[in-house]
Amino acid sequence: MTDEQLAAEVRAWLEANWDPGRKVKAESFGRSPYQPFLEQVLAAGYAVPTWPKERWGLGLKPAQARIIEQEFAAVGAPGAAQDKHNLWANTALAHATPEFRDEIVPKLLTGAVGMCLLYSEPGAGSDLAAVRTRADREQGPDGDRFRVNGQKVWTSGAAVADYGMLIARTDWDAPKHKGISFFFLPMKQPGVEVRPLRQITDEAHFNEVFITDAFVPAANLLGPLNGGWGVLQTALAYERSVMGDAARGPRSGKAGPKGDGALVELAREAGVLDDPLMRQDIAQVTAWKILNRLNNARAKADLKRGTSSPIMSLGKLAMSRILHQEARLRTQMLGAESLLEGPDHPRAEDANFLSLNAYFTSIGGGTDQIQRNIIGERVLGLPKEPEIDREMPFREVKSG
Ligand SMILES: Cc1cc2nc3c(=O)[nH]c(=O)nc-3n(C[C@H](O)[C@H](O)[C@H](O)COP(=O)(O)OP(=O)(O)OC[C@H]3O[C@@H](n4cnc5c(N)ncnc54)[C@H](O)[C@@H]3O)c2cc1C
Repeated sequence: MTDEQLAAEVRAWLEANWDPGRKVKAESFGRSPYQPFLEQVLAAGYAVPTWPKERWGLGLKPAQARIIEQEFAAVGAPGAAQDKHNLWANTALAHATPEFRDEIVPKLLTGAVGMCLLYSEPGAGSDLAAVRTRADREQGPDGDRFRVNGQKVWTSGAAVADYGMLIARTDWDAPKHKGISFFFLPMKQPGVEVRPLRQITDEAHFNEVFITDAFVPAANLLGPLNGGWGVLQTALAYERSVMGDAARGPRSGKAGPKGDGALVELAREAGVLDDPLMRQDIAQVTAWKILNRLNNARAKADLKRGTSSPIMSLGKLAMSRILHQEARLRTQMLGAESLLEGPDHPRAEDANFLSLNAYFTSIGGGTDQIQRNIIGERVLGLPKEPEIDREMPFREVKSG
């Protein structure tokens, strides 16, 4: 099939199945309000077109998948290109047992289940290999299972999640990276207590999660027992790729044009478009954005070849710099107006929200400093940071 034929086929399918009047609100956590439509997208193979036909896809090349993505984007329809950005489904596809994969992946692709990431702990954030949440294997009334105890924190979306992708320690005598396992933990059970945390943006997407004698069936183990570190690398690569590729826009949605032209428009409205320094800064941020898009395309190509690309870390770090710089520029353009707040001042509200929300990308999914370490070690080949506890049995590792 030629590219033109594919585009025409997708357009016709969308005309028959998608109501363009529906407004799509991006939902990264929780169940999707578009589930019935997403079921249709899955059945058509458009959700994951590069995956093989026997695994929900169409076996297309990435360039053809982009055509589908573009046609969906043109009418604002959700559900395409999940082979690029659905970290939950991609992780399950790569590491779940065939039985669990076949059960969970369609639910993940149709938004039938909400998800969260149970990685960070009060004593393990940047150093995720230091997790102390434990999972102990036992025989339960329903068969082989793990009993989970511990505490997670900064868990986005935990309050609405059906499953959490959990890393927990399953071998305390192995070195820190070698005694961790990776699970899909059912969240709606008595042993899982979720407490919301209020963020600097006044939202409460984050949560603390207290896990006390909760259970996860052994069938929900991804990858080998004690081999969770490898599974985590797949999941982190997708998360960083998503964060490096796209970012949340202004909250009000009223602040005029979006995309590369938004800063120019705002400068025009604020009467500073003729300021040469402002023009230079706008050009710089715009160039960073374009470069970042090109780099992300390179990283995606690596991922398609089956390697989790260290270039992903370039994208996330670049996006962090773009978001902080763009927010700073908006504030500068507005000058004293940026001190105002509330619905009567959407431009100022957006500038302030974007300034605060930029920290989502520079901390979440691994801080800028950690991304720099990864780039130094894995991309530039610099010597690794000294880690005296790397080969020690975890039981003997001292940590606060
Ligand atoms: C918006 C947002 C959403 C999040 N969502 C989730 C989620 O859903 N699930 C989840 O599990 N976690 C989530 N997190 C947590 C996030 O992954 C951690 O906050 C992050 O990894 C840093 O860990 P920490 O907060 O423990 O800081 P620490 O690890 O204590 O780091 C403190 C400071 O020390 C620096 N530092 C630490 N180690 C090094 C080093 N080796 N080299 C150089 N500098 C270093 C860090 O860069 C940082 O500046 C989220 C965080 C944010 C901000």
